[in-house]
Amino acid sequence: MGLARNPAKIQDMDIRIGNGYDVHALAQGLPLWLGGVKIESETGCVAHSDGDVAIHALCDALLGALALGDIGRHFPDSSDEFKGIDSKILLERTMEMVSEAGYRVGNADITIALQRPKLATYIGNMRETLARVMGVPVSAVSVKATTTERLGFVGRSEGCEVYASVLLFSLE
Ligand code: MG
Repeated sequence: MGLARNPAKIQDMDIRIGNGYDVHALAQGLPLWLGGVKIESETGCVAHSDGDVAIHALCDALLGALALGDIGRHFPDSSDEFKGIDSKILLERTMEMVSEAGYRVGNADITIALQRPKLATYIGNMRETLARVMGVPVSAVSVKATTTERLGFVGRSEGCEVYASVLLFSLE
C-alpha cells in the first residue's frame, strides 16, 4: 500500500471513468443518425461524418477514460477518409483502442438532448446497436433522451447535444 499505488485500483481491478460531450447544429433536409440508428426527422446534424452526435460523445468518453485525447485528434474532420463516414466505424476503431490498452467496458450511459422528434421509440434499437458495435451486453448500455423544455439552442431545435459517461475496467 505505498503512495505510488493507483488510487483507482480496487483489489486487482483497475477502473477508469470517462465523460464525453458533443453538439451538432441541425439543418433541414439532412439525415438524422443517433446511436447508430436512422431517425425519422425533418432535420439532421450538420457534420463532416454522418453526424451521429451520440456516438461522437460516446467515443470521446471512451478516449477520455484512456486519456487519449478526443475524437477530433483521432478522426480529424479535415480528412477525406472520414467524410460522410458511418460513425459506427469510428466507435469500432475507438473500441480497438480500448482493447489495445487492456481495458473492457463496464457500462456506458448516454443522454441525448433534442427538442424534436421524440426519441422514445428508438431507444431500444440504439442500445442494441451500440452494444453490438461495442461487444458488450445490452444491459451495459443506457440511452436516455430529454428535451430542454424549449430552452436554449436545443429547445429552439437549432442543435442536438449529447453527454456520455463510461466506465472501463481491467483485470490484468
Ligand atoms: Mg461530432
